[in-house]
Amino acid sequence: MNELKGAEVFPWLAERWQHVVALHSAARLPHALIISGTQGIGKQAFARALARYLLCQSPAQGQACGSCRSCVLFDSSGHPDLFHLQPEEPGKPIRVDQVRELTGFLHSTAQQGGYRLVVLEPAEAMNVAAANALLKTLEEPGRDTVLLLVTHRLGQVMPTIRSRCQRIDCHPPQTDEAVAWLASRLELEDEKARQLLAISLGSPIRALEYMQQDLMAVRRKFLAGLADILKQQRSALEVAQQLAKEDLELLLGWLYGWLLDIVRVGTTGDESYLRHTDVRNMLVAVARRVGPQPLYALADLVHEERISLMQRQNPNRQLLLERVLLQWSALVR
Ligand SMILES: [Zn+2]
Repeated sequence: MNELKGAEVFPWLAERWQHVVALHSAARLPHALIISGTQGIGKQAFARALARYLLCQSPAQGQACGSCRSCVLFDSSGHPDLFHLQPEEPGKPIRVDQVRELTGFLHSTAQQGGYRLVVLEPAEAMNVAAANALLKTLEEPGRDTVLLLVTHRLGQVMPTIRSRCQRIDCHPPQTDEAVAWLASRLELEDEKARQLLAISLGSPIRALEYMQQDLMAVRRKFLAGLADILKQQRSALEVAQQLAKEDLELLLGWLYGWLLDIVRVGTTGDESYLRHTDVRNMLVAVARRVGPQPLYALADLVHEERISLMQRQNPNRQLLLERVLLQWSALVR
């Protein structure tokens, strides 16, 4: 999920953001910041957002513009004046030769003529040799260079490194704030969001990841089931049995969207109408074989069953899914 790889300032870090932006506006931004705080509260996204902001050629009101050459580079292929230093594999140390690469980068001229940015995460992953090599850079970073070190174990970062960076301490959101944010981001009820946050040990970012990864797995399972039914490799009943315990409201919501896609493509013959391109092959295959009437009938059924689920009329979940999948299997008979 790209979102988490992205650059974003979560609302509970907005005050920290204002602080850094104010330092920058006053030309008092230090050349090295250490962004610390517990895991899973958005420090990496904050560091990336800051790098993006500092590289932006026309920032306004404390935000990167999102459309200049720098922003476009940052958002697509990667910005040539941004150096991202992290372990080659999670859990492995950052090695001294990686820091030497960084030094080489810093000795070159900024390609876009502005800042050079380094995002180093997690800072505690540097082994002693790497940390010592970085010290020299921290002492003489060169002009227009900003190093952003991210750590969730500040105590494990060498004191000599810490003392050369300005600390940006990040705090997790209050539980109610995290619940409200998760509920709105994932379109969940507060109670579900609260449970999810508890499972994720209070980290809203982990909760988001957890939910999205989990959902992607469910989506793949559902798609595989629908495809198997079409290919007559499994029966509708078998697939219903496998999926009955999943969030059916979600499954039916997905199916409804896919059916509308099939109708759009079927009636126009134009594949560019597809909204769910990750399912392209199956949707196009069905669109070629099935006319609009049975598709509308199935979409109506899905819609009705979804409403009955939402109204908690306590339906038999497996039977409900069987009805839908039997009708799906009848599409291509
Ligand atoms: Zn920009």
